[in-house]
Amino acid sequence: MPAAIAPIPDFPATHLAFRDDAYETSLTARVIGVHEHMLILDQTIFYPSSGGQPSDFGTITRDDGVSFPVGDLRYLDPAKTIVGHRLPESEDPADWANRVVTQTLDFERRYKLMRMHSALHLLSVALPFAVTGGSVGTEDGRLDFDIPEAGFTKEEVTEKLNALIGRNAPITERWITDAELDANPGLVKTMSVKPPRGAGRVRLVEIGNPGEEPLDLQPCGGTHVRNTREIGRVAVTNIEKKGKQNRRVRIAFA
Ligand SMILES: [Zn+2]
Repeated sequence: MPAAIAPIPDFPATHLAFRDDAYETSLTARVIGVHEHMLILDQTIFYPSSGGQPSDFGTITRDDGVSFPVGDLRYLDPAKTIVGHRLPESEDPADWANRVVTQTLDFERRYKLMRMHSALHLLSVALPFAVTGGSVGTEDGRLDFDIPEAGFTKEEVTEKLNALIGRNAPITERWITDAELDANPGLVKTMSVKPPRGAGRVRLVEIGNPGEEPLDLQPCGGTHVRNTREIGRVAVTNIEKKGKQNRRVRIAFA
C-alpha cells in the first residue's frame, strides 16, 4: 500500500499535456511546488495511474543535468487536477524547487498502453454491457462486465473485436459540459470509473469514421491511438466468472 498523502495545499491545476497530444515524447516544465516528496509541475507529459491505466515511465532532468526515473505518479487531489511526480528518497526536494525540467517519456511503453487502452474501448463495443472494472497493461488488458451469463466464446469476441479494429476508424476527443453529460447519462458505460467532476467539463472520446454513427462514444481521460488500425490484431485470451454477476474478459496483442 502506498503511504497516505497529506491534504494538498493550494496549487494550480497541472496542465495535462498528454491529453493534448498523446504522441508527444518530450516536454519542458517548471517545478511549482513539492508536496510529500512529490514534484508538482506546471505541466506534465506523464499519465498518472488512474482509471485502471498504470503510470507512465520516463525521466525528469533538471537544467543542470541531474535526472531521476519517473514511475510513481498520481493525482494528489480528489478532482484529479494536480499531478505529483515522486522523487527518489535520495533527492532533496529543496534542490528541485523552481527548477526548469525536461520530461522524457518512455514512449515505447506508453504506445503499447495507448493501443491496449483503445482496444478496450472496442471490447466494450463488441460486448455492449455495463462495465464494472478494467485494467490496462502493456501486453494485455481486461474489462469486467455486469452480466450473469457469458453467452459468447473467446473466438466470437476475438472476431468481432478484430473486425472493429479493421474499420480503420479515427479516435478523436472533444469536451462537453457537466450539464451536457447529465443530460446524456447513457454515455457512461463504466460504472466503476465515474468521469471526474468539478472542472465543469468532461472529455468525450469518440471512435468512428466521419459521417457515420460513432462505434464508441464515452467520457475518458486516458491516452488513445489516433486510428483503430494502430491497435493491431488482438485476441481474447480468457473469459472468467468473477462473482455472480460478473464476467472478466481478458485480451492480449496477437
Ligand atoms: Zn479511453
